[in-house]
Amino acid sequence: MIQDINQFDYSKNWQRSEIPEQATWDLTSLFASDEAWEKAFIDFKEKIIDADCYAGKLAESAEQLLAALQFSELLSREANKLMLYARLKHDQNRADTTYMAMYSKISQACSQLFGKLAFMKPELAELDSEIIVTFSQENPDLQSYKKFFQDIARNKAHTLSEKEETLLAKAGDVFDAGANVFAIFSNADLKFPRVKIEKDYKVRITQANYTSLLESRQRKIRKNTFEKYYKTYQKYENTLALTLQNQIKQHNYLAEIHGHPSARAAALFADAIPEAVYDQLIDTVSDNISLLHRYVLIRKKALGLKFLHCYDLYTPMVADVDFTFTPAEAQELVLKALQPLGDEYIQIIEKAFAERWIDWFPNQGKYSGGYSSGTYDSNPYILLNWQGSLYSVYTLIHELGHSAHTYFSNEKQPYQYSSYSIFLAEIASNTNENLLTDYLLKHETDLKRRRYIINHYLNGFRATMFRQTQFAKFEHLIHQAEQQGTPLTAEYLNQEYLRINHEFYGPYLISDPEISLEWMRIPHFYFNYYVYQYATGFSAATSFAKKILAGDQAAVKNYLDFLKAGSSDYPIETLAAAGIDMTEAEPIEQALETFAQYMDLFEK
Ligand SMILES: [Zn+2]
Repeated sequence: MIQDINQFDYSKNWQRSEIPEQATWDLTSLFASDEAWEKAFIDFKEKIIDADCYAGKLAESAEQLLAALQFSELLSREANKLMLYARLKHDQNRADTTYMAMYSKISQACSQLFGKLAFMKPELAELDSEIIVTFSQENPDLQSYKKFFQDIARNKAHTLSEKEETLLAKAGDVFDAGANVFAIFSNADLKFPRVKIEKDYKVRITQANYTSLLESRQRKIRKNTFEKYYKTYQKYENTLALTLQNQIKQHNYLAEIHGHPSARAAALFADAIPEAVYDQLIDTVSDNISLLHRYVLIRKKALGLKFLHCYDLYTPMVADVDFTFTPAEAQELVLKALQPLGDEYIQIIEKAFAERWIDWFPNQGKYSGGYSSGTYDSNPYILLNWQGSLYSVYTLIHELGHSAHTYFSNEKQPYQYSSYSIFLAEIASNTNENLLTDYLLKHETDLKRRRYIINHYLNGFRATMFRQTQFAKFEHLIHQAEQQGTPLTAEYLNQEYLRINHEFYGPYLISDPEISLEWMRIPHFYFNYYVYQYATGFSAATSFAKKILAGDQAAVKNYLDFLKAGSSDYPIETLAAAGIDMTEAEPIEQALETFAQYMDLFEK
C-alpha cells in the first residue's frame, strides 16, 4: 500500500527506514542499486590506472587530442555519477556506516583520478594556438571545444612555469593555514557560554543555534545571546585578525605572482567578470542606502521599540500566523506560481515531482538544510528537510530553480559547457522565489498573512542584497589596505567594520560596539571575492522576474535560453544575451525598487 505522504507526521524523529518511499528520492537514474554502484566502481577503478595514457601525446595529432579530451570526459562523467550517488546516500543518514564507507571510497578514487589527469591542464596550455586551429580544421569534432581552448589561452598569460606551479600546488596547505585555523577554531575549539531561556532552563550558545536565538521573540534572550557571543569572540580578536590577515595576504600574493594587478582582478578573471560589475554593485547600493535606513525604521516601529539594537534585526516583524502546507499543497502552489514561465518549464517541474527527484522529510542523521545537486547523466536531485512552513515552500521553489537550470543546461550543452558558473548559480533559484512572492501577494487577502509574506521577502532582501554588499565592500577594503602595506590588526578591522556597518544601517540602528567584531565570525571573508555574487545574482533574478511577470513572451524565451546556456559563454555575455546588463546599474536598481515597493505594501 502506498502511504499518503500528505498525511505523514514528519515532525517525529523517524528512522530513515520509516520514511514512506513516495517521499524519498528515486536514485535509479544514477544506479539501479548499491550492487550496480559497486560493479561500476570496480570498472571505474580499472580505468583510472590508465587515465594518464595520453600524457605527452596531446600535440601529436588532432585524433590524439580529441581522444584524450573524450577519455577524460568519460572518466569525469563516470566519477560524477559514482560520487553523487554515494553523497546522496551518505546525506540520507550521516550515521550509516555503509554509505560513509562508500563515500570515502569514491572520494579517494576521485583524488587518484585528478592526480592522473593533472598533466592535461599544463600540457594543453603548452599547445600552440595555431596547432589548435589546424587540428580543429582537420577534425571538426574539436570545434565544439573552441571556448574551452580559448579559456586555456586566456589563462596562459597568468600561469607560471610548470615547475613553479607544482611548487605552489605542493605548498597549498601551508598557504591555506589561515583559513584552516579559522575553520577549526570557530567550529571546534570555540566554546560559548549558556544563555537563560526560561526559569531554570539554560541553553548553550553554538554556531548552529546563534541565529535562531537571535530570532527569539524575547528581547532579553536576543540581547544576552548577542552580548555573550561577542564577549567570547573578543578574547580572541588578535588571533583571528592574524588568521584573516594571513588569508588576505595569500590572495594578494598569489594574484601578484600570477601577473594580476590585484586580488580582486585575479578572482574575477576566472569568469571574465569586469571589475566594474563589482564597483557598480557597491556604488548603486550605497547611492540607495536610505532604503535600508527606512527598513530599520519600519522594523523599529513594527517591534514597538524605542531604540533598535543590532540584536533586534533578526526577530520576525510580524506575529506567527497559521500558514502550513502539505507536500501536495506546496506542489500545487509552486506550479501555479511558476506558470508565467510557460509549458516547457512547467513540464520539468512536473517531472521533478512525478519522477521523485526530491527527498522531502527529515529523519535521524539526515544532512540538515536543503540543496540541489545533479550530474550530466542523471536527474538533478533535491534534499529537503520539510517543515510544512511558508519557509519550506520557498526552499522547495528555490531548489527547483537550481534543478531546472541544471536540467536545461545539461540537456542543451555538450558536457564541457554544461555546468554554469557561480556567478550565475543563484539566479534561477531567486527568480523562482520572486515569482512565488508575487503569486502569493496577488492571491492572499488576509492582512496578517500578507504582512507575514512581505516580512519574509524584506528579511531575505536585507540578508542578500544589503548584507552581502556590505561584506563585499569590507572585503575589498581590507584587500586593498593589505596590498598597500596596512597591517590588518584587530583594532583596524574592528574600526573599519563598525564604520561600514554604521554607514549601511544608518542613524536609526544603535551601533552596538559588539558588532565591530562581526568580521570575526564570517567564513566568507576567507573565500576570495565570493559574496558579491549573492547580490548580483539576486539583482539579475529580480530583473528577470519583473520582465517575465510583465507578460513579455520574448523575456520568457530569453530566460529559458539563459537556463540552457550553461557555460557556453562567459557569465556577463550569457546574461547580456538574455537582456540583462550587469555592467549597468539597472538590474540593481530594479531590485532596490522592488524592495521599496514591498516596504510600501508592508506599511499599508
Ligand atoms: Zn541556492
